[in-house]
Amino acid sequence: MLSNSLAELDRRHLIHPVSSFRGHEQRGVRILTGGQGATVTDSEGRSLIDGFAGLWCVNAGYGHESIVEAAAEQMRKLPYATGYFDLGAEAPIRLAAALAERAPGDLNHVYFTLGGSDAVDSTIRFIRYYWHAKGQPGRDQFISVANGYHGSTTMGAGLTALPGFHDGFGVPYDWQHKISSHYLYRNPLGSDPQVVTDASVAELRAKIEAIGPDRVAAFYVEPIQGSGGVLVPPQGWVKAMRDLCAEYGVLFVADEVITGFGRTGPLFACQDEGIVPDLMTTAKGLTSGYVPMGAVLMRDHVYETIADGAGAKAVGHGFTYSAHPVSAAVALEVLALYEGGLLENGRRAGARLQAGLESLRDHPLVGDVRGRGMLAAVELVVDKDAKTPLPPEVQPATRLFDRAWEQGLVVRSFAQGIFGYAPPLCCTDEQIDQIVARTRKVLDLTLE
Ligand code: PMP
Repeated sequence: MLSNSLAELDRRHLIHPVSSFRGHEQRGVRILTGGQGATVTDSEGRSLIDGFAGLWCVNAGYGHESIVEAAAEQMRKLPYATGYFDLGAEAPIRLAAALAERAPGDLNHVYFTLGGSDAVDSTIRFIRYYWHAKGQPGRDQFISVANGYHGSTTMGAGLTALPGFHDGFGVPYDWQHKISSHYLYRNPLGSDPQVVTDASVAELRAKIEAIGPDRVAAFYVEPIQGSGGVLVPPQGWVKAMRDLCAEYGVLFVADEVITGFGRTGPLFACQDEGIVPDLMTTAKGLTSGYVPMGAVLMRDHVYETIADGAGAKAVGHGFTYSAHPVSAAVALEVLALYEGGLLENGRRAGARLQAGLESLRDHPLVGDVRGRGMLAAVELVVDKDAKTPLPPEVQPATRLFDRAWEQGLVVRSFAQGIFGYAPPLCCTDEQIDQIVARTRKVLDLTLE
């Protein structure tokens, strides 16, 4: 007789595509029951430091009464108003204005989505419309970067360069192209930042020329690649790619779904790169994970071109829940928290995290440490000189994840033997030190 425990009900009824379909490799779900600040509690009553802020999203940390209040107040007052056409509510309007004011350059126009994938998907649609409006409908080819992640919808998955998001899904390939990753640690060209940057510029130029400059619609970049294993591009790489796109009139899209909202220090990572993208996608930290929401920001020229092209016609794009007032009320409160000290705390804690993880370099299993601010990774190897990955019996992401969990630490472990870190920006010094100390313990246990 099957047990009716939550884990059993989960196994029987709730689909988690990444793990549910693995059959005998299934380990069963771990159930969280609460959270406060940077810690979460599981159903067995254990308290863990959430070194991954949920899924790179709970930037403000758990248990913020002011966020709960903002949502409750909006629900009481007006739980829903469609953002589909010209109806609206105060919170999303104020939020759009606040984002436009804070975003780099003239990213003045905001379209709200439910998360990151549909934000990316929406940019693809807007960009196609833009080129039609400009009389260049042949510009229908898109370029992204190997190891990049841009979501799970069909079009976003097309840009995503992780094979698991294509294999078996029949994702259409004929409109999208990839350039090589800037992954410095295992770059076949070596780890000289200038060599890798020059090679990327040359490759993007060659790719645009090969496709045909009048066929390329846009180029997508994460300022730091997240799901590919926290891959930080060389200094100046993002700007070099942005400049090349400008030379060819190719739209440059910064996918800041992970890097936005203080994750790397500033509100948006593009601010550190000194660039203004033509479009930007955000989600996650926008509402700090309390409710779903994403946002597309576009520059004046993109907005005006689409508007001119549309004329009196309706642009047929929208979701029932775009510009949701409750999500917007939450995002406004989260923004107030960022500016009321959270960004500053994140910068302080981020410097401590980077220094702490750097101190692990002396460990025999640590091949690379990288990151910026509250976004980091430690890559494990068995031979530092040869950069040999961990053997298959140690490496599976689930084993490293389980070991960290036993030490009271939630981290993302990637299949390549990489620990990813994205703790809430509210972490105390003590919690940062614990993240580092518990990681060292996991590494020692893995060595045994
Ligand atoms: N873009 C990037 C850079 C992401 O990291 C993610 C999610 N990890 C997405 C898009 C998709 O966002 P969502 O999961 O909210 O749909």
